[in-house]
Amino acid sequence: MHAIGDLGFRVVLTDECALSPLREAIAKELLPALLGGPVTPSEVDLMLLPARHGGTGIRDPLDRAAAAYPASRASTKVVSKSVQGKAPFHPGDHRATIRHALTRSKQQQDVAHKTKREAALPHIDRRRHRVLSRSAEYKTSGWLTTLPSTDNNTGLDAAEFRDALNMRYGRHPPGLAARCDHCNQPLTVDHALCCKRYGLVIRRHDELRDTFAELIGMAWGDAGVRREVVLKEGEEGEGGVRADIVARGVWERQAAASFDICITDPDATSYASKNRSTKSILKQHETAKKKKYRSAVCDSRVTFCPLVVTCDGVWGHDANVFIAHMAHALLEKEGWKGRGFSHVSGWIRSRLSIALARATSFCLRGGGRGGFAGLGCADGAGIDPSSP
Ligand SMILES: [Zn+2]
Repeated sequence: MHAIGDLGFRVVLTDECALSPLREAIAKELLPALLGGPVTPSEVDLMLLPARHGGTGIRDPLDRAAAAYPASRASTKVVSKSVQGKAPFHPGDHRATIRHALTRSKQQQDVAHKTKREAALPHIDRRRHRVLSRSAEYKTSGWLTTLPSTDNNTGLDAAEFRDALNMRYGRHPPGLAARCDHCNQPLTVDHALCCKRYGLVIRRHDELRDTFAELIGMAWGDAGVRREVVLKEGEEGEGGVRADIVARGVWERQAAASFDICITDPDATSYASKNRSTKSILKQHETAKKKKYRSAVCDSRVTFCPLVVTCDGVWGHDANVFIAHMAHALLEKEGWKGRGFSHVSGWIRSRLSIALARATSFCLRGGGRGGFAGLGCADGAGIDPSSP
């Protein structure tokens, strides 16, 4: 729909009145249907931004029309003069003009999007600003911008998609129970993400662990991957130390690497009340994990890497380093060569982001919706080049 619209916007100077009904239909029909409830005009302004600015990626037709026509005119200046017989055609000049016009247009649109976002934010409850700023500051939209594909198992069902979309905008997902059936507290998103009911938090953690284990198996071979490995037996009165995943050959040939996964809610009252930054929350968890595992791994050649992530998909520093390392390892594999680092790293992030969105929705709604689907792609053959 965007591509067809864009083609029209580039060649015809579209009048605002003609497009207003389309924008109105998006604001009043499409977005409420996707979110499962009414949407305020300021929320609409935020949602109609590109995903990298915290939007949904559904673009405002008025903005697109205003930007596309002048950019198209500027980029075809050389060729149109030549068609009119006013100047000879030089392909080099034509290419340079296109590059310049598109870069300029992108810069202008970026400024316009930021201005629009800043104008909308004051009209939204301040308690939602933390989550809104994360979606614009960090790349948390992998689940939203990945093309759903059966080969890659990147589809989310309607409830999973709706939950993730509502949480992206700090909204209460529709259809949740009013009270927690385990401890009878009001079932807010924050409560659902930390309550120990039915072991849902553990299952969310295990879903991400299994996705990581599958990805590690793809990059370094399934044979060396083990889950839930005891690194140090508990002494009298003390618990032991267990790693979520241990794999061989990850950082060094033949050496074992251990990983532990931690999913944290950065909007939990203890963090939000002190206005703790996302980076400092992630760092705190990484430091605590490293401290816990230091004594267990110091006498052996086993390395340790904490994989810390927020519920909405902001990764800690060490996890980012590991994801990049994994992308380089996959690029060495048959079937992945020649795909480009950013493509493979984007693919890994999308898989993790979708696993996290599924697992978080499962945590909100309880265990009545069946189990998780696995990763479902063995060699990257199903990668769609258009997905990030
Ligand atoms: Zn509860």
